Amino acid sequence: MTAALDESLSGDLATMAKAGTLKTFRHITGPMDTEVTMAEKSGPVLVLSSNNYLGLADHPDVIEAGRKALKDYGAGTASVRFICGTFSIHEDIETSLARLSHTEAALTYVSCWTANTGLIPAITNESDALVSDELNHASLIDGCRAAKAKRHVYKHADMADLDAKLDAVKGARRIFIVTDGVFSMEGDIAPLPDIIALAKKHGASIILDDSHGTGVMGTHGRGTAEHFGVEGQIDIITGTLGKALGGAAGGYVAGSKTVIDYLMQVSRPQLFSNALPATIAASAGKAIDILNNEPQRVARLHEITRNLRAGLKARGFKPLEGESAIVPIIVGDTAFAIKMSQALLAEGIFITGFGYPVVPEGAARLRIQACATLTDAQIDFALKTFEKVGKQLGVI
Ligand SMILES: *Cc1c(COP(=O)(O)O)cnc(C)c1O
Repeated sequence: MTAALDESLSGDLATMAKAGTLKTFRHITGPMDTEVTMAEKSGPVLVLSSNNYLGLADHPDVIEAGRKALKDYGAGTASVRFICGTFSIHEDIETSLARLSHTEAALTYVSCWTANTGLIPAITNESDALVSDELNHASLIDGCRAAKAKRHVYKHADMADLDAKLDAVKGARRIFIVTDGVFSMEGDIAPLPDIIALAKKHGASIILDDSHGTGVMGTHGRGTAEHFGVEGQIDIITGTLGKALGGAAGGYVAGSKTVIDYLMQVSRPQLFSNALPATIAASAGKAIDILNNEPQRVARLHEITRNLRAGLKARGFKPLEGESAIVPIIVGDTAFAIKMSQALLAEGIFITGFGYPVVPEGAARLRIQACATLTDAQIDFALKTFEKVGKQLGVI
């Protein structure tokens, strides 16, 4: 039985290998930072594809907060929240997350994936409708698929199509518009003011996953809603603690007290899966404190992103336009993107190529992500190396 399964799966793996689309894991031997050490390579490597937007993953205060929580609370709750699994540090971080999100309340999950898939099926049934952007993150897609509601997908950021799809679900008990704040593969942002207007017109609520927006967008890094000046106008915001907010893991749903009270009763991961580990509740809580106290980190992140984008354009690259900290360069097919990322690694830059099925075939890309703690010298080195490799491979 097992031999037959292995043989069948090996065939699939061989097909991927032949197409040049196999992903390889690199083994990092120290903390995530702008430079890391790698088991496969001698000397430091510059990281340009991490979600560590604010450089907090190995910030001394973030590490210390995690260490202290481990000492004070041990490894974890050994329980789900409602049985005997809520520590006071869970309440602390949920208060901080609600304040950051401009909502009444928040609830943590072990990941944003779990938050999305624990949220959407919990608040919908057959009488409801979900209208979702076609480029939404896989966890929103899976959350919608797991729901019993009618599902409609609108063309990416296309407000006329969203309007039409909302028209088509008229009469549903609850209607939700579901969207990423910052789209992870394109680096563009959802047109929130227009989405809010359509939500009002059709009596819909908005679910916004701001995993790539929190800590990044807006002057204070409060997210895509702050960027547009529409804080307090989004019904439900979900996000991750695994990107700008410390980079460990963990996610949350932020919304009205009623939404959160309801999720505490019925969201399945809340009822059947362990609470966020104490170390992460504390280290991510500290990361939020740093974000609140040091808006200059966000300003520097914005400056670095502008410089990277301008520098790439000056060297003949055509990065996708956008205002987030994600700067994608489309290079063609999957195998070529992987080849270019290998060539960059040989020169000391760690940036993963993305191809099918993460993005459509033919639109494979290198996704550069800025980090607030990159130095000007590191940015210079990155741009020079991109130019060298881009010329070698005929991209520019
Ligand atoms: C990264 C990401 C997630 C997943 O976050 P985890 O906490 O790692 O599960 C969910 N949604 C979006 C939009 C993301 O970018």
